[in-house]
Amino acid sequence: DSRRLAISASVRVIPHFPKPGIMFNDITTMLLCPGAFQAAIDLFVERYHRMNVSAVAGIEARGFIFAPSVALQIGAKFIPLGKPNRFPGEVISERYELEYGTDCLEMRVGAVQPGERVVIMDDLVATGGTLSAAILLVERAGADVIECACVIGLPKFKVSTIQGKPVFILIDPVS
Ligand code: 5GP
Repeated sequence: DSRRLAISASVRVIPHFPKPGIMFNDITTMLLCPGAFQAAIDLFVERYHRMNVSAVAGIEARGFIFAPSVALQIGAKFIPLGKPNRFPGEVISERYELEYGTDCLEMRVGAVQPGERVVIMDDLVATGGTLSAAILLVERAGADVIECACVIGLPKFKVSTIQGKPVFILIDPVS
């Protein structure tokens, strides 16, 4: 539809970033097009406002751009999932494998209560490793992850799940 076309048109492709062979989809150009940015937020809000979502979790850094706007518009709380040492006080963390080495996501203890219904957001899903760690983190706190949501995703995630959770994707990667 026209809103998805506007989003795709606003994403910039940077070849060979951050490594040779990677076609990096840059969503920061979308943020300079208010109509496209609004379209993305609206599509998420239209999907989640009747799904009894109590929290929208965003993955640092680019998940932080989308999750708070969606959370406010559906009357849910926003939970940041951050890189190590972002949050003071007690945290739980989940380590995950990258192509080279490992990375880690953290969440403040008490950010989410057992039984809460959570949507996890990021800008883009590639292998699904980052979202997988985020799901494990939120579910270790006893909450239910009902879906993951990304602006951009490999087409395979429209038919496959991550940790058994559906993945809602607005557009395919731009090449
Ligand atoms: P995955 O863990 O699914 O392999 O990679 C997804 C994570 O890497 C996300 O947090 C996403 O922000 C980042 N990422 C990987 N490739 C790209 C890309 O081409 N564009 C953007 N914007 N982020 C990417």
